[in-house]
Amino acid sequence: MSIAPTTRHATRRPNLKDYSRSGLRARFRDRGWPAYRADQVSSWLYGHDVREFETMTNLPAAMRSALADEFDLEALEVETRQRSVDGTQKLLLRARDEARVEAVLIPESGRQTLCVSTQVGCPLTCSFCATGALGFTRNLSCGEIVDQVLLARRLLEPGETLTNVVFMGMGEPLLNLVQVSEAIRILTDPKGLALAPRRITVSTAGVLPQIGPLLEVAPVHLAVSLHATTDAVRDVLVPLNRRYPLEALIATLRSEPNVHRRRPVFFEYTLMEGVNDSPEDAARLPRLLEGIPSKVNVIPMNSHPDAPYRPPRPEVVDRFTAILHRAALRVTLRRDRGRDIDAACGQLANRSAGREAGRSAGRSPGREAGAPPVGGAGRPAADERG
Ligand code: SAH
Repeated sequence: MSIAPTTRHATRRPNLKDYSRSGLRARFRDRGWPAYRADQVSSWLYGHDVREFETMTNLPAAMRSALADEFDLEALEVETRQRSVDGTQKLLLRARDEARVEAVLIPESGRQTLCVSTQVGCPLTCSFCATGALGFTRNLSCGEIVDQVLLARRLLEPGETLTNVVFMGMGEPLLNLVQVSEAIRILTDPKGLALAPRRITVSTAGVLPQIGPLLEVAPVHLAVSLHATTDAVRDVLVPLNRRYPLEALIATLRSEPNVHRRRPVFFEYTLMEGVNDSPEDAARLPRLLEGIPSKVNVIPMNSHPDAPYRPPRPEVVDRFTAILHRAALRVTLRRDRGRDIDAACGQLANRSAGREAGRSAGRSPGREAGAPPVGGAGRPAADERG
C-alpha cells in the first residue's frame, strides 16, 4: 500500500497515546492549555475509546482543530484477525511505517488476557523462538503498545472486559523500557485503562540492569524466561545468557526488593526434548531458585519451522514436573492456546494465513499433566495473572 505524502507527513506528528497523563499534562501546559484538558483527552481516549478529535465534545472547537493539526491519534490498524478453534484471537497490526506486529487475545473463564508485543521483531535470537528468527527492526512506541490494547478491547463481546495484559509477544520489553514504562503508566492510570498492576505481567529473557527500574514503575509481575539450569545450555537457548549468566540473574532476583512472597517471579521453562528435560535438570531447578519467591511455568516447546527443537514425550514432561512438585516448587504446566493459528508462545512471526507460503501446522505438544488450563502466546498460568 502506498502512502500519500500528506499521510507520510502525518506520521512525523507525535501520537497522543505516546504520553502518560503526566506527560500529556506537561505537553499541554507547554502549549498554553490547562492541564485538566489533558485529563479530558485521556478520558476520551481510554474511557470512551474515541479515535477522532471531533468527538471530544467537551473541548473547545479551536483546541480540537489544533490537536488534530499537531497530533496523531491512531498508531496501529488491524490488518488481519484470526480466530483459533479454542477462541484465541490473533491480530496482525500495521503501524504507520508499514511495520507489522502481533497481539493475541486469550479468553478463559472470567478472564480476557491480551499478550502484547513491544518490538518489531526481536534482537535476542533465542534459538527456539520464531520471533528471534525474524531479526530486529525497531522498538514500538508507547502509543503502539497501548493501541494493541485498545484495538483488542474492541473484539470483546458486550459485557466482557479485558482483565489482564502480558508483555509476552514479539520483542524484549526490557530493551524498550522507556516506552514500556510509559505504556504501563497508561494501562494502570485510573483515568487511563485502569488495570491493577498485578493484572500486568512483563516477561524478560534477563536484561538484568532493567529489572529494578521496571519494578519501580509499578508493582507489576515479573516473568523470567529461564529455560535452562546450566550456563552451557542457556548460552545456546538464550544467547543473552553470555552477557548476563545464571549466577548474575539469580543474584539480581534474590536481592530485588520488589520481589517477595506476594509478588513472586514467574519462571518460564520451555521443555525441549533431549535439551533441558532430564531429571538432573529438574533436580537442579529448585536448588537454583532457592531464596527467590517463585512460580515455575513449564511449557512444552511449540514446534515451528525455524527451530530444530521438539517437545518431550508426555511421560518425560510428567517426570520433569513431578520432580519439581516433590521439591515443593509451585509449578504449572502451560497448555497451548491458539496453536492452530500460530499464536502460541514463541510462534509470533507475522505468519498470518495467506501471508506466508509453506507454513507448518506445528506439532502437538505433550498432553496435560493435571495442570490448570493455561498457556498460549506467552500466556501465563492462571495464578500468574493475579
Ligand atoms: N523477550 C521476552 C518476552 C517474550 S515472552 C522473554 O524472552 O521473556 C515469550 C515466551 O515464550 C518466552 O518465555 C519465550 O522464551 C517463550 N518461547 C519462545 N519460543 C517458544 C517456543 N517455541 N515454545 C514455547 N515457548 C517459547
